[in-house]
Amino acid sequence: MRQEVVVSTGMSECPLCGKRLVKKYNMNPRHVITLNGEYWVLERVLRCSNRKCPGYSMSFRSEKLQSSVISKKIFGLDVIVYIGELRYKEHKSYEEIREALEGEEHKNKYG
Ligand SMILES: [Zn+2]
Repeated sequence: MRQEVVVSTGMSECPLCGKRLVKKYNMNPRHVITLNGEYWVLERVLRCSNRKCPGYSMSFRSEKLQSSVISKKIFGLDVIVYIGELRYKEHKSYEEIREALEGEEHKNKYG
């Protein structure tokens, strides 16, 4: 089952002038699959509230989302790293990797 999560930058003040960050726009919801489950991610993009600051025209995005999922991709980096480790460190076959991922899915649903 997909959970809905709302994310935005961890900063509440502009790193350039220190004024409050406010909503600029919402990104379209994204479907993201990680080893912990499937999510609909709603990202809220912020900007500086100070019109005279360069941060007013900037977009402050979620650091967590940016560092855990490649732009325009569905699978999280944790899934990609997991597959890479199974394939190149443990020399698993594609079939074994598929089974391992199904095991992860099973763990997430029932574990
Ligand atoms: Zn600012």
